[in-house]
Formats: sequence, C-alpha cells, structure tokens
Amino acid sequence: MNFDLSEEHELVRRTVREFAEQRVAPVAAELDREHRFPYELVAELAELGLMGMPIPEEYGGAGADTLSYAIAVEELTRIDSSVAITLAAHTSLGTMPIFMFGTEEQKQEWLPDLASGKKLAAFGLTEPGAGSDAGATRTRAKLSDGNWVINGSKIFITNAGTDITGCVTITARTGDDEISNLIVPNGTPGYEISAPMEKIGWRASDTRELSFREAAVPEGNLLGPRGKGFMQFLEILDGGRISVAAMGAGLAQGAYDLAAAYAKEREQFGKPIASFQAIQFQLADMATEIEAGRALVYKAAWLKDQGRPFAQAAAMAKLYTGELSNRAVNASLQIHGGYGYMDEFAISRLYRDQKILEIGEGTNEVQRMVIAKHLGF
Ligand SMILES: Cc1cc2nc3c(=O)[nH]c(=O)nc-3n(C[C@H](O)[C@H](O)[C@H](O)COP(=O)(O)OP(=O)(O)OC[C@H]3O[C@@H](n4cnc5c(N)ncnc54)[C@H](O)[C@@H]3O)c2cc1C
Repeated sequence: MNFDLSEEHELVRRTVREFAEQRVAPVAAELDREHRFPYELVAELAELGLMGMPIPEEYGGAGADTLSYAIAVEELTRIDSSVAITLAAHTSLGTMPIFMFGTEEQKQEWLPDLASGKKLAAFGLTEPGAGSDAGATRTRAKLSDGNWVINGSKIFITNAGTDITGCVTITARTGDDEISNLIVPNGTPGYEISAPMEKIGWRASDTRELSFREAAVPEGNLLGPRGKGFMQFLEILDGGRISVAAMGAGLAQGAYDLAAAYAKEREQFGKPIASFQAIQFQLADMATEIEAGRALVYKAAWLKDQGRPFAQAAAMAKLYTGELSNRAVNASLQIHGGYGYMDEFAISRLYRDQKILEIGEGTNEVQRMVIAKHLGF
C-alpha cells in the first residue's frame, strides 16, 4: 500500500492550487455578489486543459485519470465552489454521457469542442415531479418523421443556459415503460431555457429551468440504445459522485484553512484565540475528518481508475464529505465569530455554498439508500 501521490498527481495539485489562489480567489467574492458566470475563468481553465480532464486526447481532452480530476476539483473548491461545479458538472455530467454512450459520429461531433472547453454541456435528469425518484420522469419524446419530438420540463440544470452551452443530454420517456437519453442542442426550436435561478449558494454557477414544447431533434440524437437511458444516467451519477465528494473534501479544507489563519490572528483576552484549547479541538476535529474524507474520495477515484466496481465507494465518499463539509463550515464560521457572518469574510460564502453538497447528485438519504443496497439490504 502506498499513500503517496505520484509526481503527476502532485503536479496537478500544484497547478490547480496556483490557478485557484492566483486567478479565482481575487474575483470569487465579486462573481458571487454579482451572480456572474465566470466566463473568463472557464476560458483559462480550458487553456490549461482542465475542462475535459478524463476525456482521451484523441477527442480533445487531457487523457487524465479520475484521481487527477478529483484532485483538480478538490483544489478549485477549496477556493470557490461556483467555479468548481461549473467544471465538474460540465465534465462528469455534461461531457461524460456522450463519451461513454455516444456513437463514434456523436463523439466526433461533440467531444472536441466540449473536452477543450470551447463549449459547455449540461445534464437534464431532474424534473419538478422527479427528483430523488428520478425514474418518475414525465418528459416525453415521440418519434415522428425521423425526429424525436420532445415535450416536458427539467429543473435545476447546471450549465444549461450560458452563452457557450452547446447542448443538454436529457432523459425522456420514449414509451410507457421506456426511458431513453437524447442530446438536445441549444437553439433547438421549442427548447426554452429560463432566466438563471436565484440561489443561496453557487451563485456564479448557471442553474436553469428547461421547457420543451414540440422540440424536435434528429433521430440520430438518441444517445445509447433506446430504453437504456435511465440505467445510463445512473452510471453517470456514480462517476459524478466522485467529483461532488471531491468538492466536499475541498470545501472542508478551505473552511479549515480560513479558520486556522483567523484563529492565529484574532486576539481576545490578550491572546490569539488559537491558544484556547476549545478552538484547537475544533481545528483538530476538522483536520481529522478532512483526512478521512479525502481518503474515501481518493479510494473511490482509484477504484474507478483500476476498472473495478466503485459505486459504493463513491456514494460513501459523497455522503461522508457532504456531511463533514457541513460540520467544517459551521465550525469555521463559529471560529470567525461575528466577522464570519459578514459578506466580506470568505467563510460566509463557503458556508452558503456548502449545503447543496448534501442535496445535488443524490441527497444524503439517497446516498444511504445506495450504500444500503450495495450492502445487500
Ligand atoms: C444548485 C443545483 C444544481 C443542480 N444541478 C442539476 C443538474 O445539473 N442536473 C440535474 O438533473 N439535476 C440537478 N440538480 C437537482 C438535484 O440533483 C436534486 O435537487 C436532488 O436530486 C434532489 O431532488 P429534489 O430536489 O426533487 O428533492 P426530493 O427528491 O423532493 O427530496 C426532498 C427530501 O425528501 C427526501 N427523500 C426523498 N425520497 C426519499 C426516500 N425514499 N427516503 C428518504 N428520504 C427521501 C430527500 O432526501 C430530501 O431530503 C441540481 C439541484 C440544485 C439545487
């Protein structure tokens, strides 16, 4: 057993940490305050080859492994969740379905632009009436004259409505007992995208409601075999959970770093508050849990890279880091006292950005359901 990261993985960490600290940190508060999508940063991430990390080079990606990708997402989230989720949703949810299930023609059409970050892709599973019960999808698609004609709606879809979004992959009912995946290009007549949804966190990320009214896409936009769409999306979610779990570890680390620095600087009763054992214990607990959470994330990524079953490990990592990041931002804000409640202190943004990590890509309860199922219950 070897817990050391390879030189290549260390290089990914150093590169992304430097980018996050030098390019993202100075603008993160402003983007959040103005609810402004980080176009410039996405272009820079694309330049660094980070917008399609796990996609092979022949399709315009970086050909990196899952562990490298998880480290990159972790390092971005340590500084800002909006930028991190933009990259993670684009990669794991937007691009992956086309890479994993697309025909060679679909891959050639979409992947070079997506994996190089010229365009973004979104993943449309959730509907107003189908959240945790994602199989209850009501969006329908009917084959007519060589086109799939789509009617229905999706909600909370990340990256669906930016100026550079190329497409969304959706689940739709293509028969009474049949769910399939379809690629819907932005600009398709009858496909409407709402204004950005207002959120308590992830404010610089793009979240939209989608509606389809007689929206027609060519028959060839079916992704994977007809009727296999739901299973395909579950497989995508398994992989996506590793990146959301990496976000949990990264966010908790960011919260720890802010708390540790503040505790050394803030004086009360004539001493830095870091000298009080009550504060030290909170930092010790945070550091311990972060270490455990990170190990779960890396193990899930490693299993995936070995081509071994990883769904249970990914759900465990996502559940644990979701809950640990909640405890970490709470403790960090507590250590900041009243200042932590003020917008000008970064911890207030991290605190707001945290909660969704326990909801998106399956709530804590759904992760427990997945884990219990793997345990044989
Ligand atoms: C900012 C943001 C971005 C998102 N991005 C995307 C995206 O890009 N693509 C996409 O498809 N979706 C996206 N989502 C949707 C997200 O995945 C769903 O919100 C999530 O799966 C939960 O569904 P729901 O909100 O309908 O909650 P519900 O399913 O209604 O759940 C409500 C509560 O009931 C609990 N619950 C439900 N069923 C059970 C059960 N059987 N046992 C115990 N408890 C249960 C849940 O755990 C939860 O606490 C996003 C959501 C947000 C907020």
